[in-house]
Amino acid sequence: VTFETALDQIFPGSLLEDAFVTQTYQALQELGFNASNSIACVSVCRDELTLPLVTKISEVWGEAFNFSSLAGMLFLGKTGFSAAYHHAPRMDERERYVHFALPHIAIGENGEVGSTIRPGHLERSSACGALMAFRDELVSGQVNIELDPDDIEQSLLKHRLFNKIKYGDVPDLSRLTQLAHEAVTEDLEHMVSLLVDTGRSDYAVLTGIQIHGPEGRNYIWPGTLYAVVNGRRQSLQEP
Ligand SMILES: [Zn+2]
Repeated sequence: VTFETALDQIFPGSLLEDAFVTQTYQALQELGFNASNSIACVSVCRDELTLPLVTKISEVWGEAFNFSSLAGMLFLGKTGFSAAYHHAPRMDERERYVHFALPHIAIGENGEVGSTIRPGHLERSSACGALMAFRDELVSGQVNIELDPDDIEQSLLKHRLFNKIKYGDVPDLSRLTQLAHEAVTEDLEHMVSLLVDTGRSDYAVLTGIQIHGPEGRNYIWPGTLYAVVNGRRQSLQEP
């Protein structure tokens, strides 16, 4: 199996991350969003492998508000979301928020799911490490979902994703990453429903999965892509 076949099978429709960012920017521009009238908010895993996406988003949209936790989960809550919204430009009568939320996974050159070689390393290592650690607990049959004050983000991640898994099931890593994507999409939409007044603000939801391929190339599997403009939901054309 090659990387390309694995990518096609597991995450069909993926594209290079730069293309994802520029194409969604163009689509959002047509709906009235641009770098000077919008604030971008980005949630990715803390892993440094995710950062090229954040850099690209900042190049296109300007410096972004950091929503990130382990695995790209959204644990910043109402306080974090409200802070970001208060920083949105007030160019005209409206504020505009562009949310990106993307868990991540590595795929090796022979289609090894979860596996990558990091710069400066000889052996393979894994991504997403937080999701793999949770999966290891599922495999062991002992999942601790209590809040561990020494491991707050990982506790919250396990608590959040445990709800999505059927009792006794151990999803493979790509499935677990898809469940993380579902969770961040739901949590993002929940926060937006609590905090955004569509009478005075427009917003976009851009979720997906970031895939680390061979030779440092990152791809995006597009998940949920839409904008709400003047209270009306419009899906973005497939990038
Ligand atoms: Zn990670």
